[in-house]
Amino acid sequence: KKEYDYLIVGSGLFGSVFAHEATKAGKKCLILDKRKHTGGNIYCENIEGINVHKYGPHIFHTNDKKIWDYVNQFVNFNHFVYSPLSLSKGKLYNLPFNMNTFYQLWGTKTPAEAKNKIEQQIKEFGSDNPKNLEEQALSLVGKDIYETLIKGYTEKQWGRKATELPAFIIKRLPVRFTFDNNYFNDRYQGIPIGGYNKIIENLLENIEVKLDTDYFENKEYFENIATKIVFTGKIDEYFDYRFGKLEYRSLRFETQILDTENFQGNAGINYNDIEYQHTRIVEHKHFEFGNQKKTVVTKEYPENWTSEKEAYYPINDEKNQAIYLNYKKLSETLNNVIFGGRLAEYKYYDMHQIIASALIKSKKELENG
Ligand code: FAD
Repeated sequence: KKEYDYLIVGSGLFGSVFAHEATKAGKKCLILDKRKHTGGNIYCENIEGINVHKYGPHIFHTNDKKIWDYVNQFVNFNHFVYSPLSLSKGKLYNLPFNMNTFYQLWGTKTPAEAKNKIEQQIKEFGSDNPKNLEEQALSLVGKDIYETLIKGYTEKQWGRKATELPAFIIKRLPVRFTFDNNYFNDRYQGIPIGGYNKIIENLLENIEVKLDTDYFENKEYFENIATKIVFTGKIDEYFDYRFGKLEYRSLRFETQILDTENFQGNAGINYNDIEYQHTRIVEHKHFEFGNQKKTVVTKEYPENWTSEKEAYYPINDEKNQAIYLNYKKLSETLNNVIFGGRLAEYKYYDMHQIIASALIKSKKELENG
């Protein structure tokens, strides 16, 4: 018998939930991470007493009571509700698109007036057969919303003109005819009291962790000490890129400590205007209603991805999806490796979806394995 039942590569939310469930079922786990900390992308760094979301702002939200109850075993949540604004042409607008936004754009005071305005704009600027993202957005919401609140942000995000982006990127653009600035529609929402690291610390209680350790630097050794591998890193890297490299969009974060108590009065403000290179500024203390003397803000700049950079958003276009499917098929032929999480499945997942996926995969594994 080998020393460990499971060697888990990656201490993000997927690896940590899997390790927790396996340990609860009496299995012995070792979890590795190449970073110097656990938690993957939900990790927060404490700066000036403020939990700074190091890999981008994270808001926990779900409609699924089982997932909500699951995370609440490990941490309690505050009553934070994400309600970002957008700075556009020198003015602030509420997001997501709702009655407040329409009032700020046009002065419309009733849902009937706002609906009328949007329908009129769609008629005037939309097309029946949108050929690119710009035409798609114009057909969904018309010119004013598109130009004021979508165009610049989207072009910065993808590093391409909206007329050169495929229409499929935007499938729907929800508009809401109530004065409701809550970005998410889910029933449960909040930020962990004490920060996201607490979830991971509690999931990994009594589990052996090795940080600063890259699985690929010692693959054979690690394979020999465990019966099975749970792999949450990049699937193309696992197979030595034999079908080609999967592509991503990346982000650069510029974080500053400011000697002021309250910089922007909100956790998130998007920057639609093209003269700013960042897409948003996050003021971390507002996630936890902080009243520290100083504040920490992060400007977020979208970037092209190269292999030394963090892979943030998979580019699920046809080319990449086809490459991924080759890897997926190959992965299914290995019966001692379980692939899971956002990098191994080449898929954008929210945190609640990652937890659900790790619970399903670990249950299946622990029942059969
Ligand atoms: P990760 O957290 O990436 O964990 C993978 C881990 O594996 C990493 O720690 C990595 O270092 C390690 N690893 C990889 N390869 C190796 C190797 N070879 N050897 C050792 N270790 C390795 N979700 C929400 O629900 N709400 C939000 O508001 C939200 N905001 C987001 C904002 C941004 C900018 C991004 C990018 C994501 C956001 N998410 C949000 C999604 C959330 O981050 C993910 O759902 C979650 O973190 C994925 O967990 P994971 O375990 O799959 O991956």
